[in-house]
Amino acid sequence: MDDFARHLLASSPAVVFVCKAGGDYGGLYVSENIRELIGYRPEEFLEDSGFWKDHLHPDDAERVLAGLEAVFTEGRHVCEYRFLARNGEYRWMRDELRLVHNPVTGADELVGSWLDITERKEMEEDYRRLAGLTSDYVHYCTRRGAEPYRVKWVDGAVNPISGYSIADILEMGCWLPLVHPDDRERVSAYLLGLVPGDRKTIEFRIITRNRQVRWVSEKSRCEVGAIPGELVLLGAVTDVTELKRAERALLDSENFLREAAQIARLGRWRWNIVTDEGEWSTMTQEIFGLELLDRKITYADFIAAVHPDDRGAVETALHNALQNGSDYAIEHRIVLPNGTVRHVQEKAVVRCDVAGKPVRMVGTVLDVTEQKHVETRLRDSDRTKSEFIATASHELRTPVAIIQGYSELLLGGGDFPPEQQREFLSIIHDKAIALEKIVDGLLDVSRIESGRILCLEFAAVDIVDEIRRLVAQFEKESHGHRFSLELPEAPLVMPLDRAKIVRVLENLLSNAVKYSPPGSEVSVTAAVGEGCFQVGVADRGVGLSPENRERVFDKFYRVETADTAAPGLGLGLYLVKKIVEAHRGRVWVESTLGAGSSFYFCLPLPGAVP
Ligand code: ADP
Repeated sequence: MDDFARHLLASSPAVVFVCKAGGDYGGLYVSENIRELIGYRPEEFLEDSGFWKDHLHPDDAERVLAGLEAVFTEGRHVCEYRFLARNGEYRWMRDELRLVHNPVTGADELVGSWLDITERKEMEEDYRRLAGLTSDYVHYCTRRGAEPYRVKWVDGAVNPISGYSIADILEMGCWLPLVHPDDRERVSAYLLGLVPGDRKTIEFRIITRNRQVRWVSEKSRCEVGAIPGELVLLGAVTDVTELKRAERALLDSENFLREAAQIARLGRWRWNIVTDEGEWSTMTQEIFGLELLDRKITYADFIAAVHPDDRGAVETALHNALQNGSDYAIEHRIVLPNGTVRHVQEKAVVRCDVAGKPVRMVGTVLDVTEQKHVETRLRDSDRTKSEFIATASHELRTPVAIIQGYSELLLGGGDFPPEQQREFLSIIHDKAIALEKIVDGLLDVSRIESGRILCLEFAAVDIVDEIRRLVAQFEKESHGHRFSLELPEAPLVMPLDRAKIVRVLENLLSNAVKYSPPGSEVSVTAAVGEGCFQVGVADRGVGLSPENRERVFDKFYRVETADTAAPGLGLGLYLVKKIVEAHRGRVWVESTLGAGSSFYFCLPLPGAVP
């Protein structure tokens, strides 16, 4: 052998050898690099014919020697076994042998290469163990240059998963044909992208032999191979089809729950009592007005958010639930960071450890602020109704009593001069008219209540004239109020329900008088505006608070004041609004508490678009 050939052999990672074909397979030639491989000199193999055989691992010797017989029938053979190295360690070796005829000696000899595969075997061992624990099968593949990975070895439940046998896979030599076509490109890119040292995981679908789709997860480990330019891929593959299915079902049901929770504005929370760590769903955080927190929420955080007046009740309820392991259900207020107060309904269960010690609470929180408001409004409206009945009886009784009194006087045959009799009669008449108005008002309300809109009887009415007439009448009857009037010069004839519009004006004028001190001014203005005729009645009276301004047009609503002298049913402005709206108009109020109020309404001019 020339020097160059010797040099080549010595620098190869594989030891090249020639040995006897049979017997103790004694060495005839061993390349120099055997020293680096396992520490021996080549001569040691050549001088002692039994050297190789004697250094085989006792557990492997029999299998290896028996296996070697195959070389005579097949012409080549590969085997893997442990061999005692000079340093006393067993190394895993891979032999690849070929039977050759030496024309010089005329004898058959074995020519082979020897590789140290200890590292790979250890990896395999790790993976096999791993396979026992978590995966269904493990495989070992190699690739060189731009070639795809070739399967060199595979072990485990390949068949139950894929329907193929280990032999099928080895024959195919490559996994890619099994990969679902939609995932093939991704898997291929993943495999080609692996570099030595990588520990990665990929999930993809495979198509089984009987054309079923299964999901697998592969944990891959990439290493440098024994041959230069070779990459080794060790993969532990787990069938995750069921897991995927369960995951999907979970996701579906979670999505469903999340959506339902979203619609119901139901927040969820969990609290680890032992570590005082709480997890709040996004909705819970939203209800509590918190920014998305990236830390766990503590009990102190929660209690700080509870309305100070409700803290005692919340703490007692929590204490009872933890003490007795009973359910926790409470309604309380919370104060948001921006100061808003909300009402929440909380429900939770307590989970205990085996010793019965409470360890966790799982609960829901429902924002019931709206409900609370509706309840309050209902309660208010119930109260207003009862108050209405009381005031109505009073309002009706007063004129009835007056009518009764004066008519009794007249009927009693008393000797009253004719002027006085006339005066009594006119009082009776006025009170009967007042009664009629109250009853008319009530009838209108009951009509509106039962869903019927106000029936209007339109006629051509000079609204300017009506205003002038009514103001004059109020001026005449008033006890000390001054009236100012600002009206268009020309008459303005509009199609209106005269009686109802008169009622609107009467109500506004009588309120102005009722809720302002005698001697103060009531000013009435009316003008044609943009597409409408606008009327205003302003007084310098008690005025209205912003809250009451909102509500004076509500049915039965009366402002609660210490001074209850002003009679009324709380129906006037309600009817004003309904009547004006029936005319497709609009009504509003401007007012300052203590300084006076200005009530306005506008009616669309004929032909104007409302
Ligand atoms: P009432 O018959 O009680 O006067 P209204 O519907 O006419 O009923 O008015 C409702 C409430 O609005 C009144 O009880 C009163 O408190 C308030 N209000 C009405 N007009 C005025 C006004 N001009 N100034 C101050 N408050 C008023």
